Amino acid sequence: MQTEPEEGLLADRFRAGAGTRRPLRAPQAASSRYAARPLRARGLAIGIDIGGTKVAAGVVDPTGAIIASARRETPGQDPRAVEAVIVDLVRELGRGRRIRSVGIGAAGWMDLDNGTVLFSPHLAWRNEPLRANLEKALRRRVTVLNDADAAAWAEWRFGAGRGESRLVLITLGTGIGGAMIMDGVLERGRHGVAGEFGHQIIVPNGHRCECGNRGCWEQYASGNALGREARELATANSPVAQTLLHEVNGNVDAITGTVVTRLALQGDPVCRELIDDVGQWLGLGLANLGAALDPGTFVIGGGLGAAGQLLIEPARRAFERNLTGRGFRPAARITAAALGPEAGLVGAADLSRIRHRPLLGRAYGTPPSGRPSERR
Ligand SMILES: [Zn+2]
Repeated sequence: MQTEPEEGLLADRFRAGAGTRRPLRAPQAASSRYAARPLRARGLAIGIDIGGTKVAAGVVDPTGAIIASARRETPGQDPRAVEAVIVDLVRELGRGRRIRSVGIGAAGWMDLDNGTVLFSPHLAWRNEPLRANLEKALRRRVTVLNDADAAAWAEWRFGAGRGESRLVLITLGTGIGGAMIMDGVLERGRHGVAGEFGHQIIVPNGHRCECGNRGCWEQYASGNALGREARELATANSPVAQTLLHEVNGNVDAITGTVVTRLALQGDPVCRELIDDVGQWLGLGLANLGAALDPGTFVIGGGLGAAGQLLIEPARRAFERNLTGRGFRPAARITAAALGPEAGLVGAADLSRIRHRPLLGRAYGTPPSGRPSERR
């Protein structure tokens, strides 16, 4: 249930326009651990966010501001057609500008070392050498990233996670996306596939998940879960669901998480209750992540993040109630994302121009050279 921003409106939020308050502060510097290797982000880069329906692109300056943007429909699932759209967007936005690099964010698992897409749920990409193909076509450095990683990087550098040494991003859309920045490193696990927080099993034998398991967190704390609960209420023809039914002219199938969020923000008490329930599930899963990862900040983004404090307050209560060792340990901050739906393209652009391959190499699980026995 990613909400589509109005064209240009969000780009304006990032622009240092006359008369508008600039929401971006100075970018996050390298963490102390990597102070000897400061992040260098000079010049302009193009970030591209490949979604299931739209390909969004923007020219991003070193402060994280989008100074120009463009978008196209996602041209089906054919990798060649998607590459052609990317090339077209880069040529359009690069006209008259000196573009140093291009960063691509897409849902799925990326092998950053080889620039290949191992698997993408929405696009028919399997072991696709996206980076090599695009570098040849564009004659520029290209970085290929998971979209949640890109968004986490943007929030850490320019948004709600600035100054945080250990950050976990949770994006609540149709499912749950996740990413971690730990001591300035985009942490992807040994095989590059970490961050699948949405598939922690939180209710044994609970709702079936499309991953094949039952009871995954994203079946309880996502936009889809919110829509499902609201439809259930409406199908039962509950008198409390009249506002919901009126909003969709009686068409129960048209009730989505986006509709519920909108009504909740307008003050509808039942939709607020539904979001409160989802928030409590969110907090329970965050308590599990807090026990395992001990981050300083959880940043909550994605379409459902638009519910703001209606979601975050109950999440915080459930988090504090379920966190192991509560009362005897500092608890993580839980905060709404600051950069909106364009965070992915901002982060992809910014990462593409930062020459810190050693960090990314570690983040993506490059094995040490030599066999273990030889390293001793
Ligand atoms: Zn699952």
